Amino acid sequence: MRVLKFGGTSVGSPENMRAVMNLVADGEKKIIVLSAMSGTTNSLVEISNFLHKKNKDSARIAIGKLEAKYKEVVAELFTSDENKQKGLEIVKESFDTLKSFTTGNFSLVGENTILAQGEIISTNLVTILMNESGYNTKLLPALDFMKIDEDKAADLNFIREHITPVIEAVGEADYYITQGFICRDVNGDINNLQRGGSDYTASLIGAAIDAEEIQIWTDIDGFHNNDPRFVENTKKIEQLSFNEAAELAYFGAKILHPQTVLPARVQNIPVRLKNTMNPSDGGTLITAESDGKGIKAVAAKDGITAIKIRSGRMLMAYGFLKNVFAIFEKHRTSIDMISTSEVAVSLTIDDTKQLDTILEELSQFGTVEVDYDMSIVCIVGDIIEEEKGFASKVFNALDGIPIRMISYGGSRHNISILVPESRKKETLVALSKNLLNN
Ligand code: ASP
Ligand code: MG
Repeated sequence: MRVLKFGGTSVGSPENMRAVMNLVADGEKKIIVLSAMSGTTNSLVEISNFLHKKNKDSARIAIGKLEAKYKEVVAELFTSDENKQKGLEIVKESFDTLKSFTTGNFSLVGENTILAQGEIISTNLVTILMNESGYNTKLLPALDFMKIDEDKAADLNFIREHITPVIEAVGEADYYITQGFICRDVNGDINNLQRGGSDYTASLIGAAIDAEEIQIWTDIDGFHNNDPRFVENTKKIEQLSFNEAAELAYFGAKILHPQTVLPARVQNIPVRLKNTMNPSDGGTLITAESDGKGIKAVAAKDGITAIKIRSGRMLMAYGFLKNVFAIFEKHRTSIDMISTSEVAVSLTIDDTKQLDTILEELSQFGTVEVDYDMSIVCIVGDIIEEEKGFASKVFNALDGIPIRMISYGGSRHNISILVPESRKKETLVALSKNLLNN
């Protein structure tokens, strides 16, 4: 069986929902993972923020606006009165849930329950739509099998054990639809796989059922060899290895949730990125094999903070880095890049929630300097260390660009360079010209 995931834009209007239906209804049994309609999760985040700030009136107004939008969607989506009625009931149930939080106290569980409603509504509506059009379609409630553990990591074993009974319980169907993004935590409360997490849902399900292929459908024809928002004439990449795709997804290519590749790689299931606007195109195929040596792509990740710790105590001492890393671990902040000299270490983070505490604790080791608004530009491919002149090609391309850090040799799939965000575009263009011959 294949698992196909469609993002927010793909289900962003009644017309697009019908297009998704026509794409998937080819007679082949499959699992379809859907995001919330585009814009919905942002609105739900806004509503939760109002409630956290005890600004209940603004929350009520935002809920009202969103509900009106969904009533229009229902009116446009279905043909029969009976299905219009069913659609309105789905919408009412979710909005009753939202409204229940506008009285009384508001907690994190409340927030996660609110955030889940977008996927709950979109999947229910498309399921009704497909049945109205004569396709035998059943809904698999993701909250019955998707789970995260104590560390908020996806619990693949649990998913594997629980998904088949859920499929059996809903009964025989040609098409199964389920919610992306949402799950339960160890307490059984509603939670999620973080923003953009529907891709991850699809690959977890793919791994759990040992799917033939996992397809991630968006509105672009696959991974590009550079960021089309900043560089002209970028090209679609036909094939990538799991490792290359993981690096690209993590370092900036917005098309795929960074964790998506992992479950697929473990089970060796091909992942294909496909374009809803151009379904006949093969998209980008991600498998265990790389499509030859050399550089495949350049990508950038913004909003990076660089921290430098300079310490006399580092000189010839052991255990220094361990103590530094321990502080980041304690504050659950992951480090992306590091580079060291004998008296200083520089590293980067993108999650700055705990930055103040981290900086304070680091100051016991020496002087701490911080650079904000940096970008990691990363060069991804199957890069052979022995290739002569490779490093000089990279450095020549970067002539005139102030480089704050470089990481080379960590893996053969990635070279990372840290530059000020204001110089990112220039860096991407220069690398594109010199390394990718765009
Ligand atoms: N609806 C969620 C979000 O907007 C999950 C997703 O679309 O992947 O982040
Ligand atoms: Mg997405």
